Amino acid sequence: MAAEEQERIPRNFITDIIDADLNSGRTSHVATRFPPEPNGYLHIGHAKSICLNFGLARDYGGTCNLRFDDTNPVKEDMEYIKSIERDVRWLGFQWQEPIRHSSDYFDKLYGYALELIDQGLAYVDELSPDEIRQYRGTLKEPGRNSPYRDRPVEENRALFEKMRAGGFAEGAACLRAKIDMASPFICMRDPVIYRVRFAHHAMTGDKWCIYPMYDFTHCISDAIEGITHSICTLEFQDNRRLYDWVLDHISIKSRPHQYEMSRLNLEYSLTSKRKLNLLVEKGIVDGWDDPRLTTISGLRRRGYTPASIREFCRRIGVTKQENTVEMSALESCVREDLNAHAPRAMAVLHPLKVVIENFGVEGVTETAFEVPNLPDHPEMGTRTITISKEIYIDEADFREEANKQYKRLKLGSEVRLRHGYIIKALSCDKDENGKVILVHAEAVPHSAGANVEGHKPKGVIHFVNAADCVSVPVNMFAPLFTDPNPGAAEDFLSVVNQNSKEVLMAKVEKSLADAKPGQAYQFEREGYFCADSKAFEQGKLEFNLTVALRENKKAGA
Ligand code: ATP
Ligand code: MG
Repeated sequence: MAAEEQERIPRNFITDIIDADLNSGRTSHVATRFPPEPNGYLHIGHAKSICLNFGLARDYGGTCNLRFDDTNPVKEDMEYIKSIERDVRWLGFQWQEPIRHSSDYFDKLYGYALELIDQGLAYVDELSPDEIRQYRGTLKEPGRNSPYRDRPVEENRALFEKMRAGGFAEGAACLRAKIDMASPFICMRDPVIYRVRFAHHAMTGDKWCIYPMYDFTHCISDAIEGITHSICTLEFQDNRRLYDWVLDHISIKSRPHQYEMSRLNLEYSLTSKRKLNLLVEKGIVDGWDDPRLTTISGLRRRGYTPASIREFCRRIGVTKQENTVEMSALESCVREDLNAHAPRAMAVLHPLKVVIENFGVEGVTETAFEVPNLPDHPEMGTRTITISKEIYIDEADFREEANKQYKRLKLGSEVRLRHGYIIKALSCDKDENGKVILVHAEAVPHSAGANVEGHKPKGVIHFVNAADCVSVPVNMFAPLFTDPNPGAAEDFLSVVNQNSKEVLMAKVEKSLADAKPGQAYQFEREGYFCADSKAFEQGKLEFNLTVALRENKKAGA
């Protein structure tokens, strides 16, 4: 199957709608958009929306716009804008040029607001924000009309122009759509569509002191861009009525439609930029790209591949059912991808020194082995593994005594060193606490990568050569929260796992000294790891655990 075919979005209720729209002629093409607010970095929830919107455009030969929803002037930040562009591209998608901004349409939006005023469908309200709230009513009780609701058109026009000219203080006046204060949908009770804000805007500078609200801006931006299918999450279901109302009452021809799907909720992770921001600000994590975060940049630094994230989004599907996806679903996607592509390497996470006492005698003189980078993949090349009299193995791979189930090294029995000799443990040295600190062993002559009569080791363990291995910190990660649903906790900061990161001083094979971020490795018998990008920028080598080899196996255990 071609890669493109394999990645095709599986049928879902939105593709059904699109197919029906194409058949009925409601539209002849598909135009979608991804509209992030640049107030933080993108997270795995956004990946779902990106894969869907860009994926639909790809599958149907249409277009997808990247539009920064920058209606709120105080929150924007160039760092966020750049990170969002980078993350979308890294995920493997390209927007239709140019990048759009809601603020590109401020002039047009102002014009459409005037259209509503001229039709008697919008009015300048001088109730205070508090009073507006009180007048709005509740789910059980209808709202009340503002005393300013029935102003004549000319007065509204003059007052709105006064708002624009800076004649009102913030909160002293706003423009409201005149819809229905008794609507069962609170968003239809004369929603505010413009408010006064004396704030500098990243794109429009000080040109405006009134800013349009999201609900008014979004539908019109979609229409201006000729979006056919505007996909958002379920919490905007009620707002669809306002979306349609605005477009029904202005002169724009193009007619987009809004469709809602359920949000992605992922266990042990936050999918709210506001909450993520708090973790960053409080220094609980090492920036937005902390490998423990399920931000796109955190996942990248952790060693996730774009293909694995796209595959995850394909598997979770698109529905209207709210649910929470298990972390293992995301992990198995990266595990499968890396299993197929990541070169193998040897790294000892909890080093224990072994002295091969007979090293150098006849049959135990080989010091280097040429081994494949990825078994069964000759195109991935080979590398040289070295060995000498002293090696390191993992502490967990040696026991003085053990039952038959233990297939690693124990006193008096044999094990094979991966790619190397069969060795037998003779004795061990301990420190004053009884902890084993050195193992004395001997190698079976002529056993390097070969079978020898009478020797049948039950297991294979990995090792590194003490003479040329590299000591590096390896960052092991556990979930960042103790609660699988931190977003629902009353105070999510109280469920932060204090032991989510452990740094091991590991010994890794020489070839890993050249590891670069973006290249994943399988540390044999441990898991998948990659060089940390932040350390790399500082000229240091550190590895991050991407994911353990098997579910429930704590890497290194
Ligand atoms: P946040 O609370 O993190 O700020 P948001 O929805 O306000 O989330 P936006 O930047 O406005 O973030 O979102 C851009 C797009 O991504 C929107 O279309 C939104 O519906 C979608 N999106 C955001 N979070 C999720 C999620 N968890 N699952 C699916 N789509 C999401
Ligand atoms: Mg938002």
